[in-house]
This record gives sequence, structure tokens and C-alpha cells, in this order.
Amino acid sequence: MSRAVVALGANLGDRGSTLRAAAAAIVALPGVRPVASSREVESIAVTLDGPDTTKPRYRNAVVIVDTDLEPQELLDALHGIEDAHGRTREVRWGDRTLDLDLVAYDDVSIDTVTLTVPHPRAGERAFVLAPWHDADPDAVLPGVGPVADLLARVGDDTERVDEPRLFDVPTRASGAETSDS
Ligand code: ATP
Ligand code: CA
Ligand code: CA
Repeated sequence: MSRAVVALGANLGDRGSTLRAAAAAIVALPGVRPVASSREVESIAVTLDGPDTTKPRYRNAVVIVDTDLEPQELLDALHGIEDAHGRTREVRWGDRTLDLDLVAYDDVSIDTVTLTVPHPRAGERAFVLAPWHDADPDAVLPGVGPVADLLARVGDDTERVDEPRLFDVPTRASGAETSDS
């Protein structure tokens, strides 16, 4: 069993519903079980030309799961969920109904044509770091450092959305332990 961190984003359609449905679809995948989820944050769209206030704003969240799937298998499944929500790919960093990125997978480093883990831009993105920290305050970006420190460094320019977590897990802190102390 490995632990994976998935970042969710949407700036088209009913973004909150999409993120909730996507989180449910992720934890419903065979060989995946929920560990923790963040609440949602909102932020300005970033395009290749930089932050763009004329674009629809993003909703982002992070879910943490335990999984038997290999990293590429998990990414393929995430792409299937994106497709089911009408994700299209025209422009890099263009508007999208749903984006699912594999941020981390245990302490594993992967660099193939189709998959780089940890996600190379995660440590610079408040819209990943803030919800990740919300889901797991002790999180560490493998090979880089504590998510709390990275978030302090980049500055949290996201706005917390006043909605519940995408899902709740009874033993949120560690997933597997039976103790609730
Ligand atoms: P960014 O990667 O900067 O967040 P993006 O999410 O907009 O940009 P996409 O168009 O969704 O980029 O994905 C382009 C390709 O990135 C995917 O087809 C996928 O193969 C590849 N990729 C590499 N590493 C990862 C990863 N860790 N998570 C998701 N996709 C990845
Ligand atoms: Ca992305
Ligand atoms: Ca992506």
C-alpha cells in the first residue's frame, strides 16, 4: 500500500460539484481508499502569460489516498476521471472543467515522458500547498521540505471556501490507526 497526494482543480462549470464528484470517483477506484481531504480554496487563474483576472477563478483541493495502484496506473485512472468530466486539452494552462495532478507518491521520484513525481511545480503553488496543508498539516513534499514551510515561503494568496471537506474519514490523522487519541 502506498500513499498518494492528488491535487484537484477546476475553473469551468460547477466547480465545487465537480471537485466533490471527482474526489468521490477517486476513492471509488479499485485499489484506492480515502485517507484525508482538504476543504476548497479559490484563486486567480494563472496562464502562460501569468495571473489573469479576466479568466474564471479556480477552485482547488487536495485528497490523500492509500493505494495499491502503481503511479502510472493511478495517473491513467485520474485521466479517466478528467475525461468523464469533459476535460479538453487545447492550450497549456488553459481553462478546464477538471485537472487532477499526482503531486506525490510515497517518497518515490519518477521522471518519465508521461509522469514526473513529485509534481515539479507543486512546491511553488499556493493553490496546491494550502489545501494540502489543510488536509495534512504535517505533510512533507518529498525531497523538498515541509508543506507548511513552503506555503509560508510562497505566501498563501488563496481564499478558503466556506464548504465542508470533499470527504470526511473517521480516522483522518493517519488513516490506518485505530486509536482516536
Ligand atoms: P501542470 O503540470 O503545470 O499543472 P497541467 O496540469 O495543465 O500543467 P496537463 O495538460 O493537465 O498539464 O497535463 C499534461 C501532461 O502532464 C499529462 O498528459 C501527464 O502525462 C503529464 N504529467 C507529468 N507528471 C504529472 C503528474 N505528476 N500529474 C499529472 N500529470 C502529469
Ligand atoms: Ca495542473
Ligand atoms: Ca494536469
